[in-house]
This record gives sequence, C-alpha cells and structure tokens, in this order.
Amino acid sequence: MKPDASFPLDLIRSRPHTMWRYAEALPFALDAQAPPRLTMGEGGTPLVPVVLAGRTVLAKLEFVSPTLSFKDRGAVVVVARALEEGARRLVADSSGNAGMAIAAYAARAGLACTVFVPAATSAPKLAAIRAHGAEVRSVPGTREDVAAAAAEEVEATGARYASHVYDPAFVQGTKTFAFELWEQLGAAPGSAPGTLVLPVGNGTLVLGALLGFAELRAAGVLERQPRVVAVQAAACAPLAQAFEQGSLEPAPVIPARTVAEGVAVAAPARGTEILAAVRSEGGTIVAVDDAVVEEAARLLARQGLYVEPTAALPAAAVLDGLVFDDATGPIVVPLAGAGLKSAG
Ligand SMILES: *Cc1c(COP(=O)(O)O)cnc(C)c1O
Repeated sequence: MKPDASFPLDLIRSRPHTMWRYAEALPFALDAQAPPRLTMGEGGTPLVPVVLAGRTVLAKLEFVSPTLSFKDRGAVVVVARALEEGARRLVADSSGNAGMAIAAYAARAGLACTVFVPAATSAPKLAAIRAHGAEVRSVPGTREDVAAAAAEEVEATGARYASHVYDPAFVQGTKTFAFELWEQLGAAPGSAPGTLVLPVGNGTLVLGALLGFAELRAAGVLERQPRVVAVQAAACAPLAQAFEQGSLEPAPVIPARTVAEGVAVAAPARGTEILAAVRSEGGTIVAVDDAVVEEAARLLARQGLYVEPTAALPAAAVLDGLVFDDATGPIVVPLAGAGLKSAG
C-alpha cells in the first residue's frame, strides 16, 4: 500500500490515457527519469460491453497493451525500478506473457535479459521474447522447476530477479487496473464494478486489483469494494480447492493439462496471501472446465474479441453460472491476453 497515494482528478484528467496518469499513487518521484524513458503507453485499456449467456458484462481489454497482455503494467514498474537501482542484467521466469513483457521493457531499458520458460510455452511467445533480444532457456518439468532454475541463475550470477511473482514492484503496476475501472465507471465514491471476475494463477492481477481498490478507499475517493470472483482452470486449481475446503494454504494438486496455460500454477508462491486477501474482501475462488473456457473464447471471438484461452477464463465463469448479478455495479471481466499469443 502506498500510504500517501492520492487521486487528484483534475491533474489525472489532464494527462494521457496511460497508467502513468495516476502518478501520485505510483512508487516513483514525480520527476523520476526511468518511467518516461521506458513507457510504451501501457494502461488506458478500453472497457466494452460483451454478451455472455444473455447477460451484458463489461470487458476490459487488457490485451490492448504493448506486448498484448496486462503484464505490461507490472513489467514496466519492475524494469523502471531495476534501471533506477543500477541493474545490468535481468532474469525472469514465466509461462510466457510475463517473460514477453519483461523482455520488451528490458530491451527498451538497454538491459540484458534471460527468460526461463516451461518447455510447453507457445511458439509465438518464444519468438517475441527472442525478438526483443532476450535469451530464452527452456526448462523441462513443472512451473515450479522453471522458477527454481531462474532462482539458481540469480544466485550464481548476481543478475537481478525481475520476478512478476516475488518483486513487490509488479503489483504496484497491476494496481492501476483498479484505478482505471474506478475512473472509467465515473470516478465517484460508488464507481466500482459490482462483481469483478479475475483470472488467478500466481495472483498478480488479483493482488494488484485488491491493492488498487484498497488505495482508492484509503484515499477517500471510493466507498465500495467490488466483490471479487477469482477463477482457475479446473485441471489445476489449488486455490479454488483450498477455498472450497476452507483451507488457509493452497491445496496440493497434481496438475493436468489445460488450455488455460497462463494460470496453470500448481503451487502458487503467494497462495496463502491470495486466499487471505480474497476472503477478507468477501470474494470467492472458483474453477471452470476447459470446455467452458473454449466456448467462452469462441463467443468472445464472435463478438470481435480474439483472446488466448487463458484470457477467456473470467468470461467462462460467467458462462458457467458462477457469477451473480449485483445491484451495486456492473460485472467486469478482463480479457488479459491476445489470441495471437497462442496461435500457431
Ligand atoms: C499472467 C496471466 C494470467 C494470470 O495472472 P496471475 O498473476 O498468474 O494470477 C491470466 N491471464 C493471462 C492472459 C496472463 O497473462
């Protein structure tokens, strides 16, 4: 939490439609040099209606981002911090989108970058990471094995670990997702979704969004908290299972394959924190089957929105009847990653 975060609307509205318009709530001095050097206009994503199972919900088009996913919000803050602190080389680990975002901002910063990825990472994501000049190291095994390989490299070489999971700077970027929803829904004390349906794997969007709404409330510009429905893929749902069992820790799971590869995290490092945060705000964590995810992706594409399967997860929860209408505000789903990321 940035204790002195403030939201001066007149100033905010005088600035470009990027996440940097909330400068007074971001962890940089207003005259810091790194953000203006690195920004590619991340944030400021559109909010458009879509129809799912006869209901109109608002989709926030996070795939309209420089590297086509919401990870740009976090990556730009992580890399700007690294640049300010004199880092020369970054190491990241990712199932794809975070690696792509870190590689892009590292390129912009002129920093060397190595990205550890699971062997199953999609070809277009690998091509993009390499195109940005980063080195790709493919690691067999689980998502956790990939993280361990990255940690070893950091230990051995002294490179900076630009982790979307562990680096606290990352959620300082993703929290702007909440600020934008507040502003797009009217920037009034009641301007928040009724229900916010979010994908959850490592929790960088869930934790960031909850942090963002908490800061808006602490600053006195918002008086409500949206109900959060966090969504996992049924084939790999340690958080949804823990939630159902009333457990404080992620449930042990043996992950099966899922089309929602971006949330297939069997042992989320910040799982306990995610469970506590969602519970304390009266939210819930659910799981959906791949067939529903694929149907949701198809329905979105038929409405003009081509997203990768992982990005259809929140819409799938709506389709599956797991999200209820709330009189206090609209249902909002992010569309977190572009369809071309998984094609090929
Ligand atoms: C990263 C990502 C997610 C999951 O975010 P977590 O931080 O792992 O919870 C979901 N969808 C897309 C498209 C992503 O890139």
